[in-house]
Amino acid sequence: MSGLSQQQIDHLSQLIDKRWAREFSEIRSLIANMGELRQRIALGERPSDASDEALLHSLSAIDAAQVRQNVRDVQDIVAARQRIAACKYGICTDCGSDIGYERLLAYPTAKRCINCQRGHEERKARDAGRPG
Ligand SMILES: [Zn+2]
Repeated sequence: MSGLSQQQIDHLSQLIDKRWAREFSEIRSLIANMGELRQRIALGERPSDASDEALLHSLSAIDAAQVRQNVRDVQDIVAARQRIAACKYGICTDCGSDIGYERLLAYPTAKRCINCQRGHEERKARDAGRPG
C-alpha cells in the first residue's frame, strides 16, 4: 500500500478524470480540424496561394504530433487508473517507495518517484544521444 489516504486517492482520481475529459476534447477537436482540412482538399478546394498551402501543411503535421502526445497522455491515464484499481497507485514502479502526494498533485499519472524519474530521464537522454 502507498502512504496515501483514501481521500487523497479520491481527490487524485478526480484530477485524473478531469484530465481524461480534457485530453479527449482536445483529441476530438484536433481530429475534427484535420478531417475538415482533408475534406476540403478532397473536394478540390485549394488554398488561395502557395504560402497558405505551406501553412496548411505544417499545421496538419503539428496536429498529428499533438494527437500522438494526447494519446500518450491518455495511455498514462489508463495505466494510472489500473494502478488505482490494483491498490498500487502512488507507489514507484521502479523502487517501490512512495511517490508522495505533492508530486502526484502536480503529476497525477506519475508512476515513478522523483529519484527514479530523474534516473529514467537521464537514461533516456543518454539512449537518445547514442549513435545508431
Ligand atoms: Zn523510485
